[in-house]
Order: sequence, then structure tokens, then C-alpha cells
Amino acid sequence: MKISRRKLMEWMGLSGGNALGTQWLGARGALGARPLAAPMDAAPLPAETTTRWAQLATQRSEATKDVTWLTHEPLIYLLRRGDHSDAEAARYDRMVDPNNLKSMADAGVKFGRIFFYKGFGLEYEKPHIEKARRAAETMHRLGMKVSVYVAGTMFTETLYREVPEAEGWEERDCWNHWIPYGIKTYRHFACHNQPGFREYMKRVMRAGVQDLKADELAFDQISLQPEPRSCRCARCLEAFAAFLRKRYSNREVAMRRFGIADVDWIRVNQWDGHESPGEGPTELAAIDDPVLQEWTRFRCESLASYAAELYNYAKSLNPNVAVSYNMKGIYSFNRYWTYAVYHPLFSGHVDRFSFDTSGYDARIDSATGALVSQIRSYKMARSIGSCCEESDFLDDELRTSLFMAFGYQKPVCTGGPWGPGAFNVFTPAMEFFRAHNDRYYTETDTVTDVAVLLNWPSMAYSVSATWIPATLMEQILIQHKVPFDLLFDEQLESINRYRAVILAGQECISEAQAALLTRYVQQGGTLIISGRAGKYNEWREERTASPLPQPGRIGKGQIVVIPEIVRGDLHAARSTATIENPEPGITLKKGAQLSPSQWVLPKNHAEIYQSIVAAMPAGFSIRTEAPLTTVMELCVRAKTKETIAHFINFERGKRTAPFAVTLRKQFPGATSSVACFTADQNEPAGLHFEESSDTVTFIVPPLRVYAMVVVTSAD
Ligand SMILES: [Zn+2]
Repeated sequence: MKISRRKLMEWMGLSGGNALGTQWLGARGALGARPLAAPMDAAPLPAETTTRWAQLATQRSEATKDVTWLTHEPLIYLLRRGDHSDAEAARYDRMVDPNNLKSMADAGVKFGRIFFYKGFGLEYEKPHIEKARRAAETMHRLGMKVSVYVAGTMFTETLYREVPEAEGWEERDCWNHWIPYGIKTYRHFACHNQPGFREYMKRVMRAGVQDLKADELAFDQISLQPEPRSCRCARCLEAFAAFLRKRYSNREVAMRRFGIADVDWIRVNQWDGHESPGEGPTELAAIDDPVLQEWTRFRCESLASYAAELYNYAKSLNPNVAVSYNMKGIYSFNRYWTYAVYHPLFSGHVDRFSFDTSGYDARIDSATGALVSQIRSYKMARSIGSCCEESDFLDDELRTSLFMAFGYQKPVCTGGPWGPGAFNVFTPAMEFFRAHNDRYYTETDTVTDVAVLLNWPSMAYSVSATWIPATLMEQILIQHKVPFDLLFDEQLESINRYRAVILAGQECISEAQAALLTRYVQQGGTLIISGRAGKYNEWREERTASPLPQPGRIGKGQIVVIPEIVRGDLHAARSTATIENPEPGITLKKGAQLSPSQWVLPKNHAEIYQSIVAAMPAGFSIRTEAPLTTVMELCVRAKTKETIAHFINFERGKRTAPFAVTLRKQFPGATSSVACFTADQNEPAGLHFEESSDTVTFIVPPLRVYAMVVVTSAD
């Protein structure tokens, strides 16, 4: 991961340890600071201080005040990097001292992430790995789970002495030059496609799983480099050639696609000079070149297949080991093209992924009023069966609330309330979460009425233009509290679960996908279209006519056109994207990208929302009068016949007015109770409710930050 100036400042002790660090960087641990500060632009309304959650938080904070928290970085890395205190060696000794670990366990801490493999070489790192092994042994004896960190870069000064062939595993940019890890030029990126590198990583994994008995392997640097640095080593180029031969073995099809019948003639060519202005990949707005389109897909599949191989190997060593990737989430720009991360391809091959971004922290942006959250990433994670790791500690109540409401608590992931970012946070909200996790936050499914379709060619071949209407449509659904999912091409077999599918910015639609969508409508679905859906085909060739039927009723369903999305932000031209970019130096035109502070509700959001409501005669599974500064997630827990609605208030410092909620019954029969759980009360409050044959209506009391309303079915 890159290190932002802010993180750097925190390491240096300059920023006072607020929301700026990340747990991957172990910044708080490095400073020995207590992980309790809750830093935000507006002061939050404090939680009640007399609840059992608050008392437990105080007790645990007190019990761990002298603890030296674990870090994922080995001491030799701090020394090689510089930028550390003169007392690091002593701190590391304290960190792994059995008495220190026992203090954690005594306070109830159940998880720790420890340094393991940084990329210096297994032999070179042996003394540190041995320290980690002894610490892991102690932690296990004390009932704690152990996550170990595995880096993806190679330290040239040590690894190449130990494993000379490793130099041949380097990624090569389009000028056949090695690629440094930013300004840390002693670290080079390794190519995931090099068999030698993969085998070496498996050796590392065996050490982690078999010697350290790790409960989680946390892999960093799970992404490729953006153009012009995407790997063009001989192995990658040969794999790309094979990829093309497989897809375009027919000469006529190849001719139609590329204007070249023999795909062996095709190259991913060099860019003109080192990012020269006006000529390089940074100037691209759309990926029109058919070879670059195929290259984009190849890179995404290549990264996902590497991840799948690591995942399967880890599970072959121990089916109970969790696999975590730092691959970040879904933001309003094209990460398929830039970093080759296309989440649907990781489905079933990741247990947890880390956001590790800055600028996306949950808030109402003080300058623009945009509601910023990682909700898209949480939704994606659930759909591919993955937990999430927040970018920062869950010491902020709003951030914690999003994690509770939207996070998927996968059993193998050592329990959300004790995972990374949570293990040493002792706040009333976290203690509330811990107490209720197993009962209300696990074994749940989401209830969704609507899907926002993000199809591959529309999103992959546009650098940011198609991401803007899609993001803003999602923003409308988030703030109007419409239960929705993101839907990708790989997930279309489940399209019939949704009453409506929305196309926003979906310019490229294949004949096959148009036929699938038409069938969906004929069978009773509602297709909602905004913008010029189907303007292009799946190769981004402009069409003369849309492949979708005209709006109106078709079979049992209908196609509805809704108004164009009119941006509500006022500073589109002077984007602040640079400081909020999770991956600085990204390859797109500055200002074209929608930064999170620009996720402002469209000017005509109410009109668009009303059009969606009108397009759905059966209505939504939940309706509420809660304000637009709140968000909602709706779940069911079949095991206990409960429908669970989570509400979060983003407006810090202000309770909402009481608001009415009407739920569609998710289980047959009468309702036995409606209970409202918050961290402000020891016990849930029973809510008065009214029911009809298929709905339940109740009033949620003034909402401070978070409430969970549990509707229980009688039989
Ligand atoms: Zn390569």
C-alpha cells in the first residue's frame, strides 16, 4: 500500500493519532497511543456513559492501558525504511513479551495481527519469524486468534542474495524496466504470473500455516500496476497471447475484432515515453482500442487466478485458515483498468478484503454535503462471500455502525468484533456489537428489491464517465433507503430475485445481454433505464439502434425510462480528487473523476426516486420517513424468523426526529414483537407496532447514531 503524507505524519507523531492512520500500518501501535480518539469534523453526540457497554469499554481500556499492541511490520523493515523512533527494539521486545500478550487476553482480546513475511527473504527474516512464532504460540495458548502479514513486494538487497532467481520474478513495465514500490526503491513489485514467485509464496504460506499455525493469512499488494506499468514480463506477454488465441481462434472473428486475423501478431505496445503529457495512458477517457480492452480483461483474470491459487493452497493446508487480501473496494472510478481488481472474479476465493483507503471515511462532507460511505464495498463483499476490513480502527461510532449494519460476518474470519481494526477498540458501540454479534449479525441474508447493473463493458472500457451516473444512482438508493444490490455480469443468473433492475450509465450492452434483460422483463421484472443504455455494443462500437425494446409493457413486466441524472455537486471542474484518491497517480484525466466529496445527491434526486417508486407497483420491502442523512440495511435471519432493519444517522451531533417504518413481512403469520436495540440502552426497547396481513408498521425513536430494529415472527 502506498503511504500518504497524512499517514507519514502520524508515524512521525505529528498528527496526534486521529482518523488518519490505518491498522495495516500499525500506526497507533507504533506510537503506543490509545486507540480511542474519535476524530471528526463535527463533534458526535456522545454515547450514554452509564450503560453496561460503556462500563465494559472503560474496564477494557483500563485493563489494556499498558499493553504494547502488535504490529504487522517486522523491526528490520522499520530500520531499513527509516522514519521511526530510537526505541523500536525495546518496543518490539515488550510487544511479544508473554506478559504483554496475557494482559491482552485478560482484557478479553481475541485477535492480533503480527509481523511475519515482509519480503526480505524467509532466511533473512528467520529471527523475526521465530519471534512471531513464539508470540503466536503464546496467543493461541491464551485463546487468541493470530493473523499473519504477508507482503507482495521483494526487497532487492536481501532477497536476491538469498534467492538469486528472484530477480527474474520482477514485474516489468512497458519499457521492460523493474517497478519500485513508490519511493521505496529497495522494494520491487513481483509478477504474480511467475511460477517461481508463486512457489516461493507457497513456501511462505506453509511456514505461516504449519509453523505459526496462523488463523489468517493477510496478503498485501493484491493488485497490478496501472499503465504504463502493468507487467509485460515475457511470462505475462505469453499468457496474454494464449488468452487471445483461446478467445479468438477463429480468423474471421479475430479480423472482425482487431482488423488482424492472426492474433499472434498482436502486441500490447509501449506507450510513448514516460507518461509524456498528452500522449500516455493518463489521457485516456475511454478504452476504445480492442487490444487494450482484452488486456484489461486479461489483467483482471490474471490477478484473480493468482488470488484463487493462493486461496486454494491455503485451504489445502488448513481449511479453517482465513485468507485476506488488501485489494480495496468499489469507488467511483475504473479500478479494473487501473489496478486490475474486478471483485466478482474473486467470488469464493477471499474471506476478507481490506479497504485501506483514505478520503472515504463515513461522513457528511462538510464542504459539499455529500454522504460518504463504503456501503458499495460492503455490498460487493457480501455478494462474493467476503468480510471487510475498514481503512481505520472502528473507534468512530459512525464507522462502527456501518461495519455492523452492512458488513458480512463470515465465521472463518475470527468474528467481526475481534478482527483487524476492532480487536483493541473499546467503545460502547464496539462492546454492544460484541455482545450481539453471534445472535443478530451472523447467519443473516439481505433483503433487496432492486439491483443496479454494472456490466463489464460499460464499466471496464470507460475510465470514469460511466462511473458517475452509476455512483449517483447508487447514492439516490442509499440515501432514500431503497434495499438494493450491485449486480455484475457474473451474477446475472440471480437476476430474478430483483423486482427491478436499474441501468445507469450502461452504454455498452451486448445482444446476448439485451436478450437476457428482455426475458427478465417478459417474466415480470421491471427494467429502469437512465441515460443512453446500449448506445454501444460490448466492444464499445457505436450502434445504430439500441438492442433493448422500446419502453412500455412487455409480457408480464415493463421497461421504464427515468429522468437523466443531474449532478448536484458544484465543483466538478476543480475536483479535489487528488487528495482523496485511494491510489495516487491513477491513470485518468484529473478532474474527470468523481471524488467522494462529489457524491452529492443529484439535483433531481426526488424526481428520480419517485419515478423508481412509480415503476414498482408492489412497492419496496421497507419504506420509511427517516431523513436523507440516514441510511438503512434490511436483513432476515431465517433461523430465528427475524427481520432486522439497521438504521444509521450520519448527521453528527443531532438526533433525528422519530420516524415511521413500514416493513413487508418476510415470514408468514403474526408478529410477536418489535424491539429496538441501541448502544445507549442496556436492553432493547419494545416498540408499539401495527400489522396488516403483509406489513408491520412502527415508529423508531429519535436516532442518535445507530439502531437495530428486530421484528420477530410469532411462529
Ligand atoms: Zn509478469
